[in-house]
Amino acid sequence: MYKINCIGILTSGGDAPGMNAAIRAVTRAAIFNNVKVKAIYHGYKGLITGNITEFKTQNVSNIIQQGGTILKTARCTEFMTKEGRQAAYDNMRREEIDALVVIGGDGTLTGARIFAQEFEVPIVGLPGTIDNDLWGTDSTIGYDTALNTIMQAVDKIRDTATSHERLFFIEVMGRDAGFLALNSALATGCETAVIPEKQTSVEELEDLIRNGFRKSKNSSMVIVAEGGVGAQGLAERVKQNFPEYDVRVSILGHIQRGGSPSAYDRILASRMGVAAIDALLDEQRNVMIGIVNDEIVNVPFSKAIKDDKQIGEDRINVLQILSI
Ligand code: ATP
Repeated sequence: MYKINCIGILTSGGDAPGMNAAIRAVTRAAIFNNVKVKAIYHGYKGLITGNITEFKTQNVSNIIQQGGTILKTARCTEFMTKEGRQAAYDNMRREEIDALVVIGGDGTLTGARIFAQEFEVPIVGLPGTIDNDLWGTDSTIGYDTALNTIMQAVDKIRDTATSHERLFFIEVMGRDAGFLALNSALATGCETAVIPEKQTSVEELEDLIRNGFRKSKNSSMVIVAEGGVGAQGLAERVKQNFPEYDVRVSILGHIQRGGSPSAYDRILASRMGVAAIDALLDEQRNVMIGIVNDEIVNVPFSKAIKDDKQIGEDRINVLQILSI
C-alpha cells in the first residue's frame, strides 16, 4: 500500500473566489490526519521551479473570507512538455511529497491527469473555476460568488438603463460555457442571454428587442458570454438596424473573478477540501471532488474534463417565457 505522509497543494489556471477556503480546508484536514502539507506557489510553475514551503495550520488562518489565492496561480506551458513534468516530479521526490491536491479548472485537471498517468502520482482535484464548466459537479468553487457579483453589477446597470431608456449589451466571462451568462440573465430579468451552447442570430435578437420595446418596455438588457463577436460586435450590428435606440455596451471584466467568496462557496470549498484528503487516504486516485444534489462525489478526471456539461434547457425556456 502507498502510504501518504505528505501532500502538496497548488492552485492553477484562472483564480476563483473560494480557492483560499479550499486551501484552508485541505491544509487543516491533512494536518488533522497527521499528514504534512507542502504549499506549492504559482501552480505547476512552482512545482517545476521548486517554489515550495511547508504549511502549518496558522498559515491558513484568516483566509476563508479572502478572494483570489494566497498560493498565487499561473498558466504554465512548461508543464505541457514531458521535460517540464519530469522536473516537477523530481521536485516532488526531493520535497518528499507523496500526493497532490490541485485546485483549478479543466486545464488544471487535464494536466493533473497526464502527470498522474506518467509518474503514478496520486492526485485529487478540486473544481476551482468561476465558469462552472466541469462535468460531474453541480457547482464549482467560485461560480456562485461570480454569479452574485454579476447580478449586483447588472442590477446597477439596470438603474441607469431605465433612467435613460437605453439598450444595454453586457458582456460576462465564459468563453466556452454559458452558465454565468444564462443564470445571471435569469437572476436579473434580462431579455436574453447569448451563450456558446445555443446559436442566436442577430435577427432573433432584433426581434426580441423590437418586441420588448413595442410592449412598452423602456429599456432592455442582453447578457452576452465573451468570445464570438462579443457584446461590442453585437451592439454594432444592432445599432445599424435600429439607429433610434440608444445602445450601450458594458464589459464587466475582471471584477467577476474578485471579491470575498459567498457563504455557498466557502461551505462548498470547505466540504470539498476535507473530502479531498478523505479520498486520498481512502486510496482514491485521479478523481475530482464534485457535488451532486448536495452530496459529495468522486468523479474520475477523464469524466470531469469531458466537454459536455448540460447548460439546462429548462432554464433557457424560463428565460424566454419571462422576457415577453
Ligand atoms: P480556468 O478554467 O479558470 O481558466 P484552467 O485550469 O482551465 O482554469 P488553464 O490555463 O486552461 O486553466 O490550465 C491551467 C494550467 O494547467 C496550464 O497553464 C498548464 O500548466 C496546465 N495544463 C493545461 N492543459 C494541459 C495539458 N494538456 N497538459 C499538461 N498541462 C496542462
